[in-house]
Formats: sequence, C-alpha cells, structure tokens
Amino acid sequence: MTMTTPSHVSPRVRERLAAPPHLFIDGTAVSGVSGEVLSVTDPATGSRIATAACAGPADVALAVAAAERAFADDSPWRRFSPLDRGRMLYRIGELIYEHADEFAELEVLDAGKVRQAARTIDVEFAARVFHYFAGWPTKIEGATIPVSHPGIHVRTEREPVGVTGAITAWNFPLLLFAWKVAPALAAGCTVVLKCSEETPLSALWLAELATEAGLPPGVINVVPGRGPEAGEALVTHPGVRKLSFTGSTQVGKRIARLAADQVKRVTLELGGKSANIVFADADLDAAVAGSAGGMFWHSGQTCSAPSRLYVHRDVHDEVVERLAAAAADLRIGHGLDEGVDFGPLVNERQLDRVRGYVERAAHDGATVHQGAELPENTAGFFHRPTVLAGVRDDMECVREEIFGPVVVVLPFSEADEVAHRANAGDYGLAAGIWTSDVNTEHRVTRKLRAGTVYVNGWGLTDPAAPFGGFAQSGYGRDLGPESLDGYLETKAVWTMHG
Ligand code: NAD
Repeated sequence: MTMTTPSHVSPRVRERLAAPPHLFIDGTAVSGVSGEVLSVTDPATGSRIATAACAGPADVALAVAAAERAFADDSPWRRFSPLDRGRMLYRIGELIYEHADEFAELEVLDAGKVRQAARTIDVEFAARVFHYFAGWPTKIEGATIPVSHPGIHVRTEREPVGVTGAITAWNFPLLLFAWKVAPALAAGCTVVLKCSEETPLSALWLAELATEAGLPPGVINVVPGRGPEAGEALVTHPGVRKLSFTGSTQVGKRIARLAADQVKRVTLELGGKSANIVFADADLDAAVAGSAGGMFWHSGQTCSAPSRLYVHRDVHDEVVERLAAAAADLRIGHGLDEGVDFGPLVNERQLDRVRGYVERAAHDGATVHQGAELPENTAGFFHRPTVLAGVRDDMECVREEIFGPVVVVLPFSEADEVAHRANAGDYGLAAGIWTSDVNTEHRVTRKLRAGTVYVNGWGLTDPAAPFGGFAQSGYGRDLGPESLDGYLETKAVWTMHG
C-alpha cells in the first residue's frame, strides 16, 4: 500500500506522520529489534498515512530494563520530591493543551474520530487527567495504627509498586495513555505502555514531549506491537509488578490467567453491553438526544455505549421512530471535514464484523432502521448508524458487544422486570435510566449491577470519578483516588521501643 499524506493537516502533524518508524525506549526514539513495521491507516480513507515500529518480546525486554533502571534507588526519578512529581504531571497536562489541535488531528487520522469530539473530549480529558493526578503525589499518606501492644509503634507507608505495564485498546489512544500513565507516575512508578498496534501515534508523541520537558529517560516507554507477541511479553515479564489493561473481555481473561502465574497485580477494564432504560415519564426529548449521542458518538466504538435500550411499552414506538430520525440526521464523513459528526469504524475487519451482526439480526427477525447515507465512492470503513427493533433478549445482537453504531431496542412493562433484564448477561460496565420519578430512580439504580450508572444523561466521565466494571466488564478502577491503590504497596512498620 502506498503512503498518502493528508493535505489539510497542520505542519507538526505532517512531521509526525512522516517520522521514521520507531518505538520510544529509555528516553529515545529507537527502531525495533526485528525491523518489523506497522502500517497506520486513516480509517476514513483506507489509505496508509504513517508507520510505526512493531515491538516484539526483545523490545519489551529492553523497555522493561529501562523502566527498571529509571525506578532504581537514587535514580533521577526516585529523587523527584512529591511536589516535583506533581509539577511534572501538571507539565504533561500543559503539553497536551499546548498541542491540543495537533493531538486532535492525530486522533482523527489514526482512530477515525471527528475533530470536534477529539478536541473537546479525548484531548481535553487527557489533559485534565494529568492535572488531576498532579495533585496526588503530595497526598499519598500512610497511617498510625492503634495496635494493642504496649510501647509498640506501628505505622503504614505507601510505596510505589515499581515497573508497571499498560496495555490499551485502539479506540482512545491519548486518553487511555493518560488513564494509565498519570496515576502510575503520581504513585512514583515507571511505565511500559503497549499501545494498540492500530493507533500508536499520539502515545509515542506524548512520551517524547514529556521527556523533552524533563521527565527522566525510562519513566515512560512506549512499545506499539501485536497482542500475542509484545502484549504477552509484557504481561509475563517478571520485572513488571502491575499490569493495567483496557480492551476486550476475551483478551482480558487471557491476561488474567497469564498474570496469575506470577501473582501479578492486574486491573481489567473490559467490554460492555450497557443497558439504558427509558421510563414512560421521562423527558423524551432529552432521553432520545442523550441515548443517540451516547450511542453514535465515535460510531459506537466506546466501551460504555448505551447499546441495549429498554423502552417502556407506552412510549416504545415513538422512541424507536425518534431514534431512527436522529440516526438519519447524522452527517457522515471524514472527521477533519467541517460539519461532520459521525466517522468510520477502525478497520475493515471491524466493519465486516458489525455488518455480520446486523445481517444475522435481520435474518432472525429484527426490524432494521438504517440512518444517514454513507459518503459516495468512499474507501473508508463506514457503517451507517443503525437501530434494531423487534428483537428479543436471547438474540446475539442483544447479548454480545457489537462495538459499532448499532443499538438494539426492547420494550418493557415494569421497573423490577426491566432491572432484572438489564442485569442479565455477561457485562456490567455502565447502565442508565431516564425518569422524572425520584422513587423509580432510587429503586432501579440500587438494583443495577454496573460500575457507572447514569440518571437522565449518558456518557460523562471525570478524572475524580472512578471508572470500571462489574462482572465480566472487569475489576479494579481507573481514575479517582481508587485507581492509585493499584500502583501502591502498603508496608506496616513495627517499631519496638527498647
Ligand atoms: P483488544 O482486546 O483486541 O485489544 C486491546 C489491547 O490488547 C491491544 O493493545 C492489543 O494489542 C492487546 N492484546 C491483544 N491480544 C493480547 C494478548 N494475547 N496479550 C496481551 N495483549 C493483547 O481490544 P480492542 O479491539 O483494541 O478494543 C475494543 C475493546 O476494548 C472493546 O471490547 C471495548 O469495550 C474495550 N474497551 C474497554 C474500555 C474500558 O474502560 N472498560 C475502554 C475502551 C475499550
């Protein structure tokens, strides 16, 4: 495939796209040991726009060795005071803001995003995550423990676990970098990040910028590569003390099994099939707009997409009609073009997968409402926003994560019945309800088994609020104070006075 340089991007982004394929290890851009190269494709055109080096086990070993050196006693990073660590984190947040438009362009080209959303959600939130965690290094405290032994003093100290590994999904390259790296650095750890082989560009650039700004070499290392090779090498490396993973449930299970051999700490942020419940007394304008927005944003390629919509029988047909109209109103195209609000899927494989789900659902009796038309003569991986009605709880399209712009709509009659149905299935990432009755709100939110529950809204996140799943959506939490626990050991120090 020949390389195409998009014409309408800023000079800095053009420079990044033209950079020779590299990894980022020990503060330096290096070519991979094997010389293998990953193709970076713009999903909206299907054209190759850049290359990155493809890390293998030997590169991962070099990256872990660099992270171990950076974590050694008396290394420059270990000599950073808590205040200096906080300043460094804050500076990384500032670097994201300084290059915000360029990072947004990179995310559009690499991950098929839409410029406005990439700028106001991905880039903005990534910067905020660094600013939030910048406040933590000076607040990580131990405790004095009131033991019942006379004359003995016990205190706890909280220490960084050491070298941490992060493996991320392709759909939020910059944001997931922030979710994993910021708390690790706040705790004083060092990081080897295996970003997705699909979307390596922004992680490599931010690691380089942070190092130029004074982060010691080896504190952040970035090794894009394939899961079975680079990913498993990182999971099984004995030098890695904690592994934080964001991706599919299937891969998460394998990682948990591999990590168990070394009793390695693991945080798993996995897939979802989030239930979204609209009661008859809801503000339907808000419910339809919020459900469509949450569902079709990033073409449905978000882990917490409200992809299983339960609507009270009294308003079911009206909601289906209005949702289909909202899907028809979306403007599909290249995410760098003015006015576009809906982009492509990440690659051809994912496009085929989503098409397969819709075809099988139609075959099994679903009514298919296709939304806006695709751009003409496109070689991009676009799928029309789609509403599937007339489906049953036991159908594949209702049970499985499609990870595309496809929402299934099911009628319900009673609050307890719908809460029970919402909790059925493997996942428990997010859930939501739309109602104007505070009693319904209390009763149903208490029953829902999900890590995040939205009431009369969908999709907000904040660096201070924990994010993670119940059931097969994972364990452990990203963001918020809870996320720091995964990067810290607690040591109880007993002092016997003579
Ligand atoms: P994926 O599981 O295919 O890949 C995720 C990462 O794991 C990639 O970096 C990949 O290279 C790596 N990987 C693959 N096989 C591996 C192995 N055997 N060992 C180690 N690493 C391996 O997921 P994806 O297609 O990149 O992303 C989509 C999935 O991610 C969806 O299921 C989505 O719900 C989930 N996701 C979850 C969250 C969350 O916070 N819960 C956020 C974003 C995406």
